[in-house]
Amino acid sequence: MFNTDTITRFQQLETPFYYYDMGVLRQTLTACSDASAKYGFHVHYAMKANFNPKVLDMIQSFGFGADCVSGNEVKAAVEHGFGKEKTVFAGVGKSDKEINLALDADIFCFNVESVQELEIINDLAKAKNKTANVAIRINPNVDAHTHHYITTGLEENKFGINTWQLEDVVGALRSCSNLQFLGIHFHIGSQITDLEVYKSLCIRINEIQDWFEDHHFKVKVLNAGGGLGVDYHCPDANAISDFESYFKVFHDFLHVKPGQEVHFELGRALVAQSASLVSRVLYVKNGMKKNFLVLDAGMTELIRPMLYQAYHLIENLSQKPENLSLKSEVGGQGETENIDSIFKTQNVELKYDVVGPICESTDCFQKDVELAQSYRGDLIAVRTAGAYGEVMASGYNLRDRVACFYSE
Ligand SMILES: *Cc1c(COP(=O)(O)O)cnc(C)c1O
Repeated sequence: MFNTDTITRFQQLETPFYYYDMGVLRQTLTACSDASAKYGFHVHYAMKANFNPKVLDMIQSFGFGADCVSGNEVKAAVEHGFGKEKTVFAGVGKSDKEINLALDADIFCFNVESVQELEIINDLAKAKNKTANVAIRINPNVDAHTHHYITTGLEENKFGINTWQLEDVVGALRSCSNLQFLGIHFHIGSQITDLEVYKSLCIRINEIQDWFEDHHFKVKVLNAGGGLGVDYHCPDANAISDFESYFKVFHDFLHVKPGQEVHFELGRALVAQSASLVSRVLYVKNGMKKNFLVLDAGMTELIRPMLYQAYHLIENLSQKPENLSLKSEVGGQGETENIDSIFKTQNVELKYDVVGPICESTDCFQKDVELAQSYRGDLIAVRTAGAYGEVMASGYNLRDRVACFYSE
């Protein structure tokens, strides 16, 4: 991701910024597209993972559909050419305004998360003299074996409809004349790395689709959601998730009936490895118990470590042996320290708490990170930041909006 030309370019730039490697993004999208095409599966990109316009345009160019969780995302999907017939809309709290917007856009499907929501969509569709396509988001009570902050498919989670409420669902569907039932939808969590979890999901989907057919509802669409994980520890050795094995699980275990379509909603696995947050060391604080590297980026640029206790690989780009001879050119910041470091400290590893500048104690990317001895002005990369990174940036502390740069 970073050759010496890239590092030389970084040295001219003000930090912090997101660096997008469009080559990594392209390779990832190609891998996913090829693996899903093998089985005729439909993939919608979960736009909330990253709605940077350049990223959206590249994803759209591969022909993926869009998975949206707000009215504005539906609007962005249409504006970026994802196609209304490939756009789905989920979320536990769709407002009337958002539902109306999606009805006007004639999207492919609403993924509906409660009986009450079914009735509201029906009323709003009736007022427009339209029929809304709906899939029922079901909470299958499958444990995703991921961090409890990002699991969504257990009964204790707010998402979806529990199976013991399905009698009410079919009752509502029968009485709502402006709804067209398309199928069933699931999304059980994120950063799922154990494919056995998806096997369990397939088994539940099979049971649930049989239940609907027994109640005389034809299930045209099986939507398995997303959640496929990425390797946060080895972003270079393992840059692309194993889409082949992922889709194969569904091919092997899902009972797909004639005429049925299988849909997926991948976010993280498509975009996470394509970006890093690049920052500079502002200060090195050596304490009695702790050494701190204070960066010019913090939770306002990348909140995942603080919000979900997420791990990101942190690298000191300036202290990599091949980069030590490159001179920093931004304001001379750190220049003398870097030259010192060539002679003194190449092989010294120290432990640092890598923290941001924001006035919150939780503004720490990671504790006890082993890094080469580091200096003011060193360039630091926080890897695998392409998913749920830039999109969660905030203006807290009245910070500048984070900049973005792109590989060719
Ligand atoms: C967030 C989300 C996804 C994508 O999740 P990833 O873990 O990024 O793949 C898919 N479907 C729905 C309904 C979502 O809310």
